[in-house]
Amino acid sequence: MTARILIVDDILANVRLLEAKLAAEYFDVVTAMNGADALEAVHRMRPDIVLLDVMMPGIDGIEVCRRIKSNAATQHIPVVMVTALDQPEDRVRGLEAGADDFLTKPVNDLALFCRVKGLVRLKMLTDELRSRTGSDPLGLATGDSLGKPLAGGRVLLVDNRTIIADRMRGILTEKHEVALATGKQDAIDAFNHDGSGFELIIVNLDIEESDGLRICSQFKTLEQARQTPILIVVGPDDHQRLLRALDMGVNDYLIRPVDRQELHARVASQIRRHRYTEQLRLSVRASLELAVTDALTGLYNRRYLETQLSSLIDQAVNRGKLLSVLTLDVDYFKSVNDTYGHDVGDRVLQDVAARIRGCVRSVDLACRTGGEEFVVVLPETDLPMAERIGERIRMAVAAKPFNPAPGCLLTITASLGVSSLGTATDTVEELLKRADRALYRAKHEGRNRVVPIAA
Ligand code: GH3
Ligand code: MG
Ligand code: MG
Repeated sequence: MTARILIVDDILANVRLLEAKLAAEYFDVVTAMNGADALEAVHRMRPDIVLLDVMMPGIDGIEVCRRIKSNAATQHIPVVMVTALDQPEDRVRGLEAGADDFLTKPVNDLALFCRVKGLVRLKMLTDELRSRTGSDPLGLATGDSLGKPLAGGRVLLVDNRTIIADRMRGILTEKHEVALATGKQDAIDAFNHDGSGFELIIVNLDIEESDGLRICSQFKTLEQARQTPILIVVGPDDHQRLLRALDMGVNDYLIRPVDRQELHARVASQIRRHRYTEQLRLSVRASLELAVTDALTGLYNRRYLETQLSSLIDQAVNRGKLLSVLTLDVDYFKSVNDTYGHDVGDRVLQDVAARIRGCVRSVDLACRTGGEEFVVVLPETDLPMAERIGERIRMAVAAKPFNPAPGCLLTITASLGVSSLGTATDTVEELLKRADRALYRAKHEGRNRVVPIAA
């Protein structure tokens, strides 16, 4: 994993020290020695992470962070504040300015790489998701949660050392809803019970009569928990297990005795990141759905029909199965629009779609391919059966008047054409063309009828 890291510090020795450590791990390092240069570098080089000293003459680190996070073009870039140990209030100010994480000087290697790698991993994921949604972060329907105050989350605390657990729970409940699990089975049960609601798992590695690492690995393999971040609590000398845990994919750690402010900061940062990636995941899913469905009726659109039909034909040919296609066109639809207006017309189309959907199986592909034109693909269906289904749809449309507006009752009919897969060389185009020819014949012969054409 490599990434471009911008180090900002007004003291050259600090810059050189961090630069050497990160360069040794093959990160691509750029540096700046004051706030103005840092902002310029952020815009010009688009780093994957910014490590930002707080105390600098001129524009200080807090202000640089605030500006990065308030600019739509740069706010997704993770910022780590590097604070002095004796200035704990800087952490709070940094996090309020939108910083994603903080490190304490002198910077310890393990903390540095854990936090940098965690953020790089997250940045890679969000970059990927952002590129797939094809939008800027502010354009996401769900909005951007980074840099805003965090609403309380749901946390699962896994610990059975009463005194530690009670203290942690006390601190956490100041801001979050906390469930306590006292062992491995208990933790897994809690997740299976209402797991989707947890936004963070905190595991005390020194849980008694249990292996804390095993609990973490269990969560990483549990379907419902895999995306939920894990924060572990370890003793100050437990380097070995801490490294194992980080290797396993644990997201962050706290060293005992746990500092209240740091606990709040790390919990908030994990929950915030989790929400952000969940939002991106949802919007990717939504945009994928959007790309294949027709907005008015919720049926599949023409693009989806075209991409699916050829593979459905291939499948049918390979397995020696049948496949049929219905095309449907609403009769005299123009007069509905002309008489009652376009909105009424739209509602009629929605109802036609619903009636079609009510007549077909879930394996059938119901699509709206144009204005008042629909296509239904019927796998494993021969021509006579498809004709019967066509007849069922025709009846579903014609038999019961439409009621697109209060007091407005309309009798609507539709004409349908039917075709079936003939030879193995039949193509999407030929199949649809035959169904269209059949539909044309249905119109010609007086409408409100179903006409099949054999291959
Ligand atoms: P025919 O029986 O020959 O099919 O007659 P028709 O009037 O249905 O056929 P024509 O193709 O002349 O008219 C289709 C009409 O559908 C024209 C257009 O105004 C209307 N239309 C196309 N798309 C939409 C839409 O999304 N919403 C609404 N309300 N009307 C639409
Ligand atoms: Mg029509
Ligand atoms: Mg038409």
